[in-house]
Amino acid sequence: MSRAKLFVLAGPTAVGKGTVAAAMREQHPEIYLSVSATTRQPRPGEVDGVHYHFVTHEEFDRLVDEGQMLEWAVVHGINRYGTPRGPVEEALAAGRPALLEIDLQGARQVRESMPEAVFVFLKPPSWEELVRRLVGRGTEDEEERERRLATARQELAAESEFDVTIVNREVHAAVEELVALMVDSVHNE
Ligand code: 5GP
Repeated sequence: MSRAKLFVLAGPTAVGKGTVAAAMREQHPEIYLSVSATTRQPRPGEVDGVHYHFVTHEEFDRLVDEGQMLEWAVVHGINRYGTPRGPVEEALAAGRPALLEIDLQGARQVRESMPEAVFVFLKPPSWEELVRRLVGRGTEDEEERERRLATARQELAAESEFDVTIVNREVHAAVEELVALMVDSVHNE
């Protein structure tokens, strides 16, 4: 059995990475979707071990100290999120393509440690659409909106670091584009 390829999906805040990953989990169980560890609290409906491994700060420290994290980062300045290395390695060794849905800092770490991975940038159809998705709820004040937009501008500029870009016009189409890339990688081995 030949080793499968690792894919990393990243992109700006509010582009819809989480939605694409969730649809992937539902529709393509043949692809291994990494379950991250996080120190944040579960949201209603989130299941421990399915959406995330919800861990304490102490447990997260232990995973990092023992070298069990493929990458990890502080996201939105608050909580830590990381990819447990073991299950990803197992999937790849078993010939099953694996997908990480992580932030840009994490993607850069994987680029260092596993440069053979395929890096996919999920992009909004337009800047205006990203602004709509970011500030659409209208719950943030002016300063917070400006801060988010400045971050989004920087994040969009990271596209050139990636191997492939997928434009997220519609979730189903974005998932199928991603799956086509991943399945191709198995046939081309
Ligand atoms: P949320 O708290 O909304 O589920 O996720 C917040 C952000 O954390 C998203 O941008 C997501 O891509 C990122 N994220 C989720 N898991 C990981 C991970 O294992 N590593 C890194 N670096 N980022 C992650």
